[in-house]
Amino acid sequence: MAGNDLPEEWSVDPSERHRAWDAVKVRQQSWTDIAESDIDVCLLPVGSIEQHGPHGPLGTDVLIAEAIAEATAGRVEALTLPAVQAGIAPYHGNFPGTLDIPADVFRDYTFHVLESTEAWGIETVVTVNGHGGNRTALKAVCRQLRRETALDAQYWAWTDAVDEDVSHAGEAETSVLRYLVPELVGTPQKGDTESWGEWIHGAQVAGLTDEFSENGVVGDPTSASAAKGQRLFETAVDELTALIEWLRENEQRSTDVKSGDVSADRGTR
Ligand SMILES: [Zn+2]
Repeated sequence: MAGNDLPEEWSVDPSERHRAWDAVKVRQQSWTDIAESDIDVCLLPVGSIEQHGPHGPLGTDVLIAEAIAEATAGRVEALTLPAVQAGIAPYHGNFPGTLDIPADVFRDYTFHVLESTEAWGIETVVTVNGHGGNRTALKAVCRQLRRETALDAQYWAWTDAVDEDVSHAGEAETSVLRYLVPELVGTPQKGDTESWGEWIHGAQVAGLTDEFSENGVVGDPTSASAAKGQRLFETAVDELTALIEWLRENEQRSTDVKSGDVSADRGTR
């Protein structure tokens, strides 16, 4: 591995931090680095390029997913795959700058990126998702990988791992941006809605985001802070770290399931 020299402290200068995180990226290694390493886990950051209100960068979801994946990979001796930048975001289409990839293309692409790692001896792959619109497709990809390959493929999203509701371009997400990339965050304005969508008698009747939030923001990001963002970020990294440690400790689990022998997990012997 090319110098996996990671800072212990989160408070290091952001430019130092990003340089240190480079060490865990697959794209920074040579093929011999990979051949000689005994790395068994790869993380795939997945995001979206889409509107995040007038104050947030279009790359918010991928910026956050990538930073969480890289910070975690350094702690648990894993590698990060090149981030999937554009995702499934048709409902943000009326906001300039948004990119939308059809679900079948997105599924095929992420499946093949993850599947490729099996040939180099990777045993476990985890998606580090930053965008809700990708959830269904990524879960299906993980299921397909578990069925068709020897990989233990797990879906993970930072928004599920923190103890807080993460609304689109709202307080939590904007706080993490203020911690990671303060130079890219403008002056936040309150969202035109408190919650996602337009719900009528149990149906989400709005097809497009601008039908329920003209400025694209959900919730109120005006009190977002870097300190809160750091806390959320560290929680997400702690959770992902713990997941990977658990998956390594319970590695036998997926082998048992694949071979149809699940009795050991049920404690019957
Ligand atoms: Zn987002």
